[in-house]
Amino acid sequence: MKIIKLAIKENSYKIIIKQRIFQDIVSNHILKYKNSKAVIITDKNVATFYLKTLTNLFKNKKIETQTIIVSPGEKSKDLIVVKKAAEKLLETGIKRNDTIYALGGGVVGDFSGFLASIILRGIRYIQIPTTLLSQVDSSVGGKTGVNTLFGKNLIGSFYQPSAVFIDPNTLKTLSNKEYLSGYAEVLKYALINDKKLFKWLDLNHKNISLRNPKVMEEVISICCSKKAKIVKKDEKEKNYRMLLNLGHTFAHSIEKELDYKIRHGEAVSVGLLMSAKMSVLLGIAKPNIYNIIEAHHLKFDLPTKLKCLNKKKKWKIKNLIKNMLLDKKRTDKNIKFILLEDIGKACIKNKVSEDKITLTVKEFVNA
Ligand code: NAD
Repeated sequence: MKIIKLAIKENSYKIIIKQRIFQDIVSNHILKYKNSKAVIITDKNVATFYLKTLTNLFKNKKIETQTIIVSPGEKSKDLIVVKKAAEKLLETGIKRNDTIYALGGGVVGDFSGFLASIILRGIRYIQIPTTLLSQVDSSVGGKTGVNTLFGKNLIGSFYQPSAVFIDPNTLKTLSNKEYLSGYAEVLKYALINDKKLFKWLDLNHKNISLRNPKVMEEVISICCSKKAKIVKKDEKEKNYRMLLNLGHTFAHSIEKELDYKIRHGEAVSVGLLMSAKMSVLLGIAKPNIYNIIEAHHLKFDLPTKLKCLNKKKKWKIKNLIKNMLLDKKRTDKNIKFILLEDIGKACIKNKVSEDKITLTVKEFVNA
């Protein structure tokens, strides 16, 4: 078992990583949230694997439960779906003392956190992430939200969970594509500020690919500690937290171009390489950095080119750049890029010439 504490101003909470953790979730509820109903929000896929187990554990302890099941995928990150869920909860008499449990991936986590932040002007919620992406990234840090016609996560709030409970065993039921998509975020942490971790991941690629729970407990706890440190320094993403967006300016643009019919982490995977390429083209990083990261991608079978994401799509440089201009991370007319000086050393670049942006995108469009 690993425990990470995240202390930010009035909001302190624990991230607990442990195999077979569901019993601990219920014990924690009994200890801390007396007379509180457990509202479990999940999606249809996750429900088939884990909902009954969790609900039964609550019921065995005579804790009242209520379940909300949303459709899997980005379409649930929608204001209408949030409103429907909120009205269902209000109809059944939700109280300020009740507790929302987000059981699922990043979609369920972002959706439930946002709902928790607005219903009755905010009630407690707890994350139980079940995808690798949500275990190493989205469940920690309190970013919640839904998508809009103009881009992803553009309506949302910063609202911290009261706890995060992670069971690496839940990764076993995840599809290979989802698992790899989450791994792109693990790699991101190493590239940002931990060269040693990059080497360790490279060496341990077999165990990681096999989802060895002991090794994954280690991987998840390293990533959560990193995220916790970054969030503690800069909760509202004013500067330092932006480093976590390594590869994401490219990734969000790719996702938009594919109408979000792609996994976030797959886009991040290519986005990381695009950032590395841009860093080399700008002379910030040595040319071999790109090759080392690409070799790691190939070892893990991560997508490396745009055509790996959609073979039929006619990728257009100008559309990809236009999407970047719409990105919410932009503070002025320049697009902000997180780049690499080296493996384990990310930096923020506020201004990159249009020529270099075009050149970078071109390398991936034409490959
Ligand atoms: P997801 O939540 O859509 O889950 C992926 C798929 O896996 C879904 O079909 C789901 O039903 C299924 N699934 C989940 N857990 C499973 C399990 N244990 N076994 C079998 N199937 C399982 O996707 P995701 O990659 O977890 O999250 C992506 C979302 O996270 C995006 O909306 C992205 O914007 C958001 N995100 C948020 C933050 C943040 O800080 N809040 C950070 C990164 C990403």
